[in-house]
Amino acid sequence: MRQESVLVAGGGIAGLAVARALRSHGIRAVVSERTAHTSAPGLAINLPGNAVTAFAELGLKDELEKTGRPTRRREYRSAAGRLLFEVDEDEFWGPDSRPRCVRRSDLLALLDEPHEDNRRRSVIESVRPSAGGAEAAFADGQVEQHDFVIGADGVRSVVRQSLFPEQTSSSAVISTASFRIMAPNPGVDCFTAWSGDGSAFLLIPVDDDEVYAFASAAGGGHVDADPSWLSRTFASYPEPVKPVVAHAQRRPDALYHSPIEEIRIGEWSRGRIALIGDAAHATAPIWAQGAALAVEDALTIADVLAEGDWDTAGTRYQQQRRERVRHVQTATDRFSEALALPLEVRELNMPIAGPRAYREVFGPLRSK
Ligand SMILES: Cc1cc2nc3c(=O)[nH]c(=O)nc-3n(C[C@H](O)[C@H](O)[C@H](O)COP(=O)(O)OP(=O)(O)OC[C@H]3O[C@@H](n4cnc5c(N)ncnc54)[C@H](O)[C@@H]3O)c2cc1C
Repeated sequence: MRQESVLVAGGGIAGLAVARALRSHGIRAVVSERTAHTSAPGLAINLPGNAVTAFAELGLKDELEKTGRPTRRREYRSAAGRLLFEVDEDEFWGPDSRPRCVRRSDLLALLDEPHEDNRRRSVIESVRPSAGGAEAAFADGQVEQHDFVIGADGVRSVVRQSLFPEQTSSSAVISTASFRIMAPNPGVDCFTAWSGDGSAFLLIPVDDDEVYAFASAAGGGHVDADPSWLSRTFASYPEPVKPVVAHAQRRPDALYHSPIEEIRIGEWSRGRIALIGDAAHATAPIWAQGAALAVEDALTIADVLAEGDWDTAGTRYQQQRRERVRHVQTATDRFSEALALPLEVRELNMPIAGPRAYREVFGPLRSK
């Protein structure tokens, strides 16, 4: 008897996580990833406590603890370096869900189990519902029939374009784009964010020697791709931002400039096709919920498929996830709007509003 199969479009965080979760239920998952290797840009990713919990649910707690470094504290500072507020993340999340900053390549390697059904250089061009399942067309001309298709193919998802061609991405409220780079650690020992008039800079250590740096506009500004934007914008920022900006000027080859696009759509499924991760709801990384939501989606849709009735699985998955994703989207908009307030108002409000926002955003995410 033929085993029912789920085609997973995309082998990023969402795709690899859902393949693992499906296989743990005994469901066959075929992963099609367009790139030849685990995409391993030399960057890092910040994992708040609920992301750590989701990785533990996937069975990867011990492996995750061997990568990167725990983030025990956050500091939010003005562009002049003044401490506006801090958060004891250790105390907030507890030891089982302690946030971490890890290299993306380590995270993908940890998720990527060797499996004959994990295909590389396999590019999906379109999908469409078909009798009792879904049909996928590949760039090499092949057409395959599967019992279910999961679009985990990121913010520019072709699965989403096939289902909802009228839905497009929008630019994030905080900033049109960002720069990211790994740099020698200038002495930072926790998540440290500085924000000024129209700009924001974040450093998180991945270990004692290296930090992950993220720089963007604030209040919706444009970030052009020329690295001199960094030296112009952050010229008056204090230590330890300066040496990181100087490093970025010396190493433009290691600097990533990327647009920050969002997906806000009403439906994530049609028939036996569903979207997860960024394909469904890419959100500006203000609260760093991308990986967390992707892995939570993966766990939920795998559970729903394991329960049976694949005709309604997409709708049931969406019902279970919608409210949590909406909470993150609303929180992202609120903080983006707060960053657009006049500087004096923002700096006056931050010491009270900042810790409250942290609790209001992450409190509900501590439980499922
Ligand atoms: C500037 C920036 C900073 C961020 N920082 C953080 C952070 O600190 N913490 C956090 O949790 N999140 C962060 N995020 C968000 C996070 O990176 C994403 O939410 C997460 O990577 C989503 O994973 P995904 O698997 O859904 O999509 P992706 O990572 O985009 O993976 C999609 C995969 O699908 C493949 N693919 C695409 N099209 C096809 C096709 N047609 N056929 C086959 N394969 C295909 C791609 O090659 C890719 O491997 C950040 C995002 C940005 C833009």
